[in-house]
Amino acid sequence: MNSAVAHSPTLLVHGGAWAIPADAAAAHLAGVRKALETGYALLSRGASALDAVEAAVTVLEDDPTFDAGRGSFLTSDGRVQLDALLMDGGRMKAGGVACVERLRNPIQAARLVLEESHHVYFVGDGAEQFAQAHGITLIDNSELVLDRERERLIIAKRREAAGFGDDTFSGIDTGVPTDRSSSVGWDTPLLPVLHDDKSPETAVLLSQVDRSSSAGAPGPSHLGTGESMNQTSSTCHDSHDTVGAVALDTRGNLAAGTSTGGTLNKTPGRVGDSSLIGCGCYADNLSAAVSLTGWGEPIMKLVLGKWATDRVASGTTPEVAAREAIAYLFNRLGGHGGIILLDPDGRFGLAHNTPAMAWGLATSKGLQTGLTV
Ligand code: ASP
Repeated sequence: MNSAVAHSPTLLVHGGAWAIPADAAAAHLAGVRKALETGYALLSRGASALDAVEAAVTVLEDDPTFDAGRGSFLTSDGRVQLDALLMDGGRMKAGGVACVERLRNPIQAARLVLEESHHVYFVGDGAEQFAQAHGITLIDNSELVLDRERERLIIAKRREAAGFGDDTFSGIDTGVPTDRSSSVGWDTPLLPVLHDDKSPETAVLLSQVDRSSSAGAPGPSHLGTGESMNQTSSTCHDSHDTVGAVALDTRGNLAAGTSTGGTLNKTPGRVGDSSLIGCGCYADNLSAAVSLTGWGEPIMKLVLGKWATDRVASGTTPEVAAREAIAYLFNRLGGHGGIILLDPDGRFGLAHNTPAMAWGLATSKGLQTGLTV
């Protein structure tokens, strides 16, 4: 970018989008604040956006509050499998790892891939070997597993055995169609919500339509408003805390990073959106930097990160593009999640259609954190 003009550094982080229970609120706010403090201290000393994003995401990975690093959700066979991506919008370099089990900080391995490899993405054992060859100590997977998560997995499996879907991400919207002819924007639900039968959340959505058909349909969706949803299921209170950060440095460069333990009870080997370029993470100085959270399958099918940054490149403000992206996610595939988006001018957007999303913003004016937008 223009190196003659000093840009005002900005850092935006998220700690996952879903229903953050009241007793976990303080930990989420403290976690995103610490990530902001660490990352912004670097930015204000002139460090790169990439360094700030890596540092902020490392703090969040180290905090067991979040579904990243230690304390992540478990796979169906009781292990932690992590995915992470880091992208440098100035150099257009990216590094990703997926299905790693022996790395404490997958975002740091992603940084090594970005800097040291002519490849962009490594998975499983190959990713771990690459990290080890570049100085990262491999740990035992059990060091990443918490009893809290063992218990959560037992409950998820009981629910599964009893025939309940994983409704962690699904809201209670029925996708009741509305007339699009008068619609001017993505905030209006489209007709119809398409049901993808490979999507677990669609299965839940449909079963909820069935259940509610005699009782009357629930109200409209909450597209980027952060309004509370009338959850009907106890598991809806589980938080789901993939982490991410986007930053703008003083030289005008953008970077983005996303790190996750994925979804609860996932089949080993499953990879979600978080670490896939253009899906859960993307950065390009010519458009914007983005990190997403939410049910990965719909997000990846829509390549939603790139979708959002393309809209910024076409002139939409990040504030509007963030809302539009979440609206598109819901209207097209019934998906739920959250997004942070930052452009090269420091303009930003945050949106979610889940009851909560832990977020934090650091600029020259100070730090702000919140659980809804
Ligand atoms: N998007 C992540 C995944 O599907 C989960 C999350 O964001 O919480 O793996």
